[in-house]
Amino acid sequence: MSMAADIRQAHGLIDPFGRTVDYVRVSVTDRCNLRCTYCMSEEMKFLPKAQLLSLEELDRVCTAFVRRGVRHLRLTGGEPLMRRGFLDLVRGLSRHLDSGALDELTLTTNGVRLKEFAQGLYQAGVRRVNVSLDSLDRATFARIARADCLAQVLDGIAAAQDAGLKVKINTVALKRDNANDLPSIIRWAHDCGMDITLIETMPLGAVDEDRTDQFLSLAEVRRELESYWTLTELGMRTGGPARYVRIAETGGKLGFITPLTHNFCESCHRVRITCTGTLFMCLGQEGSEDLRGPLRASAQDDLLNQAIDRALAAKPKSHDFLLPVRGAKPAVKRHMSVTGG
Ligand code: SAM
Ligand code: SF4
Repeated sequence: MSMAADIRQAHGLIDPFGRTVDYVRVSVTDRCNLRCTYCMSEEMKFLPKAQLLSLEELDRVCTAFVRRGVRHLRLTGGEPLMRRGFLDLVRGLSRHLDSGALDELTLTTNGVRLKEFAQGLYQAGVRRVNVSLDSLDRATFARIARADCLAQVLDGIAAAQDAGLKVKINTVALKRDNANDLPSIIRWAHDCGMDITLIETMPLGAVDEDRTDQFLSLAEVRRELESYWTLTELGMRTGGPARYVRIAETGGKLGFITPLTHNFCESCHRVRITCTGTLFMCLGQEGSEDLRGPLRASAQDDLLNQAIDRALAAKPKSHDFLLPVRGAKPAVKRHMSVTGG
């Protein structure tokens, strides 16, 4: 390895604003077995396979980031459990857990196939999973996800807990579809010993519905919850867009992800890699760096590291999402399923 590469590896990934990047989210596929209305259009067109990173390329790019000091890897999608060979990828990456280079290897899943994967994930060193669930009512779930899969998701969650995985629930707050159900979903999650995070819809990619019809402000939700529950702010910040509270009456933890506000950008320590190998330094900005080219151009990582350095030097201070305006085009053209949530 050259001296420059040695020096680069000795130094972590520090952006121009002094923030150390130690968390990478990687989308392993843009495909999904659901079609959530806020995420995808019904007739979603997926990318040609040749554009996706192979499992070996995914391993290489994750490993390059781990060598540069990344301590947390989250695999996502699309639906990561739909990627053929996904468990092999996880098993391979778990060598970085064994070596102590990585603190955590996690995934975000819709849970539909979690039952068949739960044990294998635990055996491969995964300890936590985030499961997205927007309704506990079968018909509402089917309407939001455009698939009648609630029972599989609930089975998947139970299997994950049985396997020893800690499960966190992610719920997108939707004005029409689940606003009234949020308290019962929170109560259910806490009764099952799971933390839950509510997410505001983000204007990512074109979908079939008008987003202003779906957008529900979490400030509003929080005010309502506070009218009957006691919420105590937890100081913990994860460097991500979530704020956490403890609910005295349920004893559980509740997070609020409000991506349209700027309050978390100054402590942002994350970057994202799409399933095609494009590195985005900010979920809400178009600025990106292609990593697939350097990956395919050379078996050595020098070109890859140069691309990572270029991207890091350009990490924006903050995103510039706008609050949804009726009929407006999405602020960011790519779908969440490509970038990875
Ligand atoms: N398929 C997996 C799942 O649903 O958990 C992983 C990928 S999904 C893109 C990751 C997360 O992004 C999910 O919790 C989903 O609800 C959320 N999400 C997708 N589109 C979104 C949007 N436009 N605004 C806010 N959250 C979104
Ligand atoms: Fe699929 Fe997840 Fe998007 Fe729903 S949110 S369509 S489960 S990628």
